[in-house]
Amino acid sequence: MTEKITIGEFTVTVLTDGSSHLPPSAYPGADFGRFPGLLDDTGTYRIRLGAHLVQGPAGTFLVDAGAGELTLPFPPELAEANALSNPPQHLAKAGDLPAALAAAGVAPEEITRIFVTHLHLDHVGWLPHFPDATVHYGAGDWPLLVDAAPADDPTRVIMQAAEKAGVLRPYEPGEHEVVPGVTVLPVPGHTPGHVVIALSSGSEQLWFTGDLIELPGQLTDRDIHFMTDVDRSQAAAARARLFARAKAEGIVIAAAHLSDPSFRRITPADTWADATRS
Ligand SMILES: [Zn+2]
Repeated sequence: MTEKITIGEFTVTVLTDGSSHLPPSAYPGADFGRFPGLLDDTGTYRIRLGAHLVQGPAGTFLVDAGAGELTLPFPPELAEANALSNPPQHLAKAGDLPAALAAAGVAPEEITRIFVTHLHLDHVGWLPHFPDATVHYGAGDWPLLVDAAPADDPTRVIMQAAEKAGVLRPYEPGEHEVVPGVTVLPVPGHTPGHVVIALSSGSEQLWFTGDLIELPGQLTDRDIHFMTDVDRSQAAAARARLFARAKAEGIVIAAAHLSDPSFRRITPADTWADATRS
């Protein structure tokens, strides 16, 4: 099933690349007893790996670029640390994004721009599949996630190749419009250079929130974090600020890893609603 939503003149489509099974320890502060049904029978929370396709007057582009061909077995020590008696086979498995794009009727060369929310591998994995696309990214991530990474780190290898190819365009500082209807909001916290990509057309708005929201319960519980958040309090404060604005303005939220629903609105009662049904 293809998941998509219309935002004014834009169409946004979910491109699924694969999935990851994350154990409770990935979410410091989360009490999974309060969220029945979130963990599956392996005792892990299954998240989507992927990207979003955006088609509109400003062109055809991607927000994030999936994880690439990736198979990571579930580490036995992680199963042990989380007391998982029936752990999943994979921590992460991906590789489906090109097929998902083809199923959406789009050829790789039609993608002219890729707006990256942050420089983690599961957001830049397929950049080499789009060698001619301009890659917009947050320069604040470069020192930590490229320069300081080991020489064979996949993110470093991918980003240095893109740099060499001359396709990189760092975001300007502050909130700014890159192309008509596409605005970048710097939201450091998960990573130093993390951004939210805001789509706007007519009276409708959608935010691609990347990895700022990792668990649905973060809507009301500020003490739930994610293991790779570099600055937890900064991320939590940013979430609170963005949730308040999204609720007040009826902005649709598309988090990189959340599905069921993939496109969300915040109700007046501070619960999530499926934005494709309202
Ligand atoms: Zn991610």
